[in-house]
Amino acid sequence: MQLLDGKKVSEAILAGIAETVSQRKQEGKKTPHLAAILVGGDPASQTYVASKVKTCEQIGFGSTLLRLGEETSEPELLAHIAAFNADPEIDGILVQLPLPRHIAEEKVINAISPEKDVDGFHPISLGRMVLGLPTFISATPNGIMMMLEHYNIDTTGKHCVVIGRSNIVGTPMSVLLSRNSNPGNCTVTLCHSKTRDLKALCLQADIIVAAIGRPNYVTADMVKEGAIVIDVGINRIEDSSKKSGFRLVGDVDFDQVAEKCSYITPVPGGVGKMTICALMNNTLLAVKDK
Ligand code: NAD
Repeated sequence: MQLLDGKKVSEAILAGIAETVSQRKQEGKKTPHLAAILVGGDPASQTYVASKVKTCEQIGFGSTLLRLGEETSEPELLAHIAAFNADPEIDGILVQLPLPRHIAEEKVINAISPEKDVDGFHPISLGRMVLGLPTFISATPNGIMMMLEHYNIDTTGKHCVVIGRSNIVGTPMSVLLSRNSNPGNCTVTLCHSKTRDLKALCLQADIIVAAIGRPNYVTADMVKEGAIVIDVGINRIEDSSKKSGFRLVGDVDFDQVAEKCSYITPVPGGVGKMTICALMNNTLLAVKDK
């Protein structure tokens, strides 16, 4: 079994981006700038946003973090997005999800200018991705593609089972892996909460991508010998031995499944690291021509 080390791969890719940024600065070109908006105090969201901003600093990007209270109204949030859209200093905008219930996620995503949609959630970005046109590809599936590419994993003709059909992970992942590209050219089965006999489908998979949001859901008896397992899940489970009172586990029962795999991603240190890396790459793409 080989570990797909998101930490190591992302560090290598981020070092390359940092080098490009430093070169741009020497040439007097614009410094990439990412603006992040966080609404409310969800602890996991705070952690995600903080690590995105920290990564910006590490690689020489400019960043703006706008923290808004839980009670922020939808029009207020839309006004902030409009201001960021109009600000030439800002190249990429992300609004950390989930949003408080009184704010319509779809409206917010649609309000971000597609030229600054570095999360790749806007319908224009998703539509262009499906058509295979250049665009911002959502960071998590894009990060997974970067990881497969880095490890030179041949996916052609492989049967891939993607578990989870969200707009930000499962669905774009199924499209990217099935298209005529490398990595890609897989035969993809997209599974979800209404799928019958998930275990039988998983046992046919050469590659499993688990994006469910349920701790340790994919067990060893669901995985074929030699399969490649990509664990997207980030689940907090109670752990009194930790100072924080919790630890992070994926959607895959790592210890048992790892023994059967050819490759597997750990949690933490796998897909999460690649997601941030892909987001930074998108922000660099957003500024490229300026
Ligand atoms: P989501 O809740 O939007 O979607 C979950 C999907 O799982 C749904 O499509 C649902 O149909 C499917 N599902 C639920 N129960 C199932 C079952 N029993 N069998 C088969 N399918 C089932 O979640 P999401 O936003 O796609 O996130 C999934 C997980 O990935 C979460 O743990 C989330 O925290 C994590 N995540 C990680 C990253 C990262 O950077 N590593 C990024 C985004 C999301």
